[in-house]
Amino acid sequence: MTAPERPDDCLFCRIVAGDVPAEIVLAGETTVAFRDLNPQAPTHVLVIPRSHYENAADLASHDSSGLADMFTTAAQVAEREGLTGGYRTVFNTGAGAGQTVFHAHLHVLGGRPLGWPPG
Ligand code: 5GP
Ligand code: ZN
Repeated sequence: MTAPERPDDCLFCRIVAGDVPAEIVLAGETTVAFRDLNPQAPTHVLVIPRSHYENAADLASHDSSGLADMFTTAAQVAEREGLTGGYRTVFNTGAGAGQTVFHAHLHVLGGRPLGWPPG
């Protein structure tokens, strides 16, 4: 999958716009959190910026407070989901690291023991 040139082509921009359904967990001013379609843990939520950035580095270099909002939202998701034993936050950057959707997203995983190192 190549990076979309326009948000119209971007799956996660379409979720932000409400054009593609998703199970929303939190909708904030700058971020949206929704359940992953193919969960890898009992809780698997994706936190995304409302604005389109290709990956975390792109987001960080253009909007550092937006990047901070991603982690604040992740903590709110963890609290809401009762992840008192801990949780993992993951940005996959680039196809070689498993990135398949080229709109920055922070995976929030928890609800089971999470091995280290990750696969
Ligand atoms: P990546 O592999 O890019 O780090 O993560 C993309 C994530 O998006 C995957 O975990 C995948 O399951 C999830 N995903 C792909 N398409 C959809 C969709 O249409 N809706 C939702 N909720 N998640 C999706
Ligand atoms: Zn997008």
